[in-house]
Amino acid sequence: MTENETLFGMDLAQLTALCNELGMPRFAARQLTRWLYARRTEEPALMSDIAQRFREQLATRFTTALTPPRRVDRSADGTKKYLFATAQGAYIESAYIPDGERATLCVSSQAGCRMGCAFCATGRQGLVHSLSTAEILNQVVSIPEFERLTNLVFMGMGEPLDNADNVLRALDILTAEWGFGWSPTRITLSTAGVAPQLPRLLDQTKVHLAVSLHNPFPEERAQIMPVERAWPIRSVVDILRRYDFTHQRRVSFEYIVLSGMNDSPRHIRELVRLLNGIKCRINLIRFHRIPSSPFFSPDEETMLRFRDALTARGIHTTIRASRGEDIQAACGLLSTAEQMARSGLSAPKEE
Ligand code: SF4
Repeated sequence: MTENETLFGMDLAQLTALCNELGMPRFAARQLTRWLYARRTEEPALMSDIAQRFREQLATRFTTALTPPRRVDRSADGTKKYLFATAQGAYIESAYIPDGERATLCVSSQAGCRMGCAFCATGRQGLVHSLSTAEILNQVVSIPEFERLTNLVFMGMGEPLDNADNVLRALDILTAEWGFGWSPTRITLSTAGVAPQLPRLLDQTKVHLAVSLHNPFPEERAQIMPVERAWPIRSVVDILRRYDFTHQRRVSFEYIVLSGMNDSPRHIRELVRLLNGIKCRINLIRFHRIPSSPFFSPDEETMLRFRDALTARGIHTTIRASRGEDIQAACGLLSTAEQMARSGLSAPKEE
């Protein structure tokens, strides 16, 4: 047990083991899940149906995990970017994106990221540390809009499958009937393609999957996504062919369009070849230029032409609406280190 151990973020199996260890009745594990996830109370003193002596033991042993965001930036389009401090002193961001009836939270899974994608501000930071299960869930439950959330996307800072244990546990707690009871169809996990962890995700959860593709040619993809050298996109696609995406679960491929680099007819033909036989969607994302980046944003005409060419070849293709650009909350722009350096901050201000 570490000194930073928290009750919040434990799954039912862990809580059951804890109850056994402390000599608590077996049903106490379910009682704990109700306090932690239905009532969002992690203070043992308030857990009135747990015997006093056990509450005291829990209070001595566990620290609190739920912490409010340190700062919020608001976009003109209603998007909000929340900044959270981690127990290890790093900073992470989550983007809240309201859109009519929908309210999506883009969640981070790591502080920084070691995948090193060339177009991504987070990747420039390198990996600071992976988030605990509690730190992942805290982003969801500690924002004022928690009750309004309809969708969660694991597309914030970090590679979720590079922190698979904690991300899978967070997904379990989010979707279990003893947890938050969310439908897995309201959750999407995005990966750059960490092939060894992919079957685990697809076997253990029912959440939607988004794969960052960005270029169908191995050599070209490796130039912008070093992960290609470890786990080629072709091997990722081969794994996906073993699963059924025709019913409840969806797979989509994210494609950041970089002007003059991956937007030619040659790329369209190869994309069609690569994804042949997989029921999927391609999400085109306009590249957001980040300072000192060698990449440029495509114009609207290129985006439309690319979308229409793929659609004509039978792949359902959409262009993702850009949100929160004015507060750097858009895809690939989350980078606390850069923003804090730019604004001269050494630590975030309290809201
Ligand atoms: Fe990591 Fe995702 Fe950025 Fe790639 S795009 S460096 S996987 S956060």
